[in-house]
Amino acid sequence: MDILYPVALPALNGNEKDYVLDCLDSTWISSNGSYIHKFEQGFAEFCQTKHAMACSNGTTALHLALLAHGVEEGDEVIIPTFTFVATANAVTYCKATPVFVDSEPDTWNLCPQHIEAKITPRTKGIIAVHLYGHPADMDPIMDIARRHGLFVIEDAAEAVGAQYKNRMVGSLGHTAIFSLFGNKIITTGEGGMITTNDDSVANKIRLLKGQGMDPNRRYWYPVIGYNYRMTNIQAAIGCAQLEMAEWHIGQRIQSARHYIENLQDCTAITLPVEKIWAKNVYWMFSAVFHEFTEEQRDEVMHGLRRMGIETRPFFYPMHTLPPYKNLQAADEFPVANRICAQGINLPSYAGLTANDIEHISSCLKKVLYEVSSEERR
Ligand SMILES: *Cc1c(COP(=O)(O)O)cnc(C)c1O
Repeated sequence: MDILYPVALPALNGNEKDYVLDCLDSTWISSNGSYIHKFEQGFAEFCQTKHAMACSNGTTALHLALLAHGVEEGDEVIIPTFTFVATANAVTYCKATPVFVDSEPDTWNLCPQHIEAKITPRTKGIIAVHLYGHPADMDPIMDIARRHGLFVIEDAAEAVGAQYKNRMVGSLGHTAIFSLFGNKIITTGEGGMITTNDDSVANKIRLLKGQGMDPNRRYWYPVIGYNYRMTNIQAAIGCAQLEMAEWHIGQRIQSARHYIENLQDCTAITLPVEKIWAKNVYWMFSAVFHEFTEEQRDEVMHGLRRMGIETRPFFYPMHTLPPYKNLQAADEFPVANRICAQGINLPSYAGLTANDIEHISSCLKKVLYEVSSEERR
């Protein structure tokens, strides 16, 4: 059966086309141009930060942020084991070592209580990931960082517009990164953004993303830099997306409400939470089948696929992936081990109607029932 409901679908229903055509007409298609500046300015305003620097994607944004905070060979950076692989890889690009912590059972974000035990004399900082749109518990994380002299980078790739105690993600740590990949809440196709209030971090990032060229001396390179720039065309799409950011975010929240209405009576499913101190933007609406094995979870996904509904499994925890599995013992992460094997992401995109979600939810319940009764037979 064809896919009727994909997991993700970008919505380009604002001024995207006009602005891109404007780039083409003007021939400003490369990484100079007015949209870059406008997009950075708008993004900083949206996140309530002093600086925003556009770059080529969320992964290069992480790499730049770590470099700007001085991460180098031999350093350790604490990250949640339950995250997208880019968080760990960016640490590795700096020849540093990611040190994994387990997740909170309800928000699925890195658990502040487990951080301090992982701090060593080599620890430089912490990356707090706002997974699937729910902010990490930043106050205790910032407190630990302050006491140990560590930096905190927010990986807000999945959480544009989310709030922690009425403050915007992107403005909570020392530096934050966003992804603007096609399946993220707002997109530029491929793209990334870095936000900070720190002038020196902002200057380092601007330097490093443009080959390290001295801003006052052309073709003079005091450091080894990178070409991690965003194009004006990407930024043009970003400007149009940002104009409608509240709509994009509102669509996710509305979808989540409909899913919750339809699924909350189903005792076999754990749904995402929204802590009283949080605004969850529900990048990917998720379900955890807390009584199922990984095989049964996969059967649910296959069953839904047969009904034209695409889903995806939760990320594998970093400590299980071949490049990282020898770093720490798997039994240090009981929460992540469990939820990563039991969780799926459901179709989550702007434009899903209440009827679509009612249909998807009833298919999910039907498949759940089938998979559970198979087990009993
Ligand atoms: C998407 C994502 C990234 C990487 O972003 P890209 O733009 O795909 O490079 C990093 N961290 C998390 C948590 C993500 O979800």
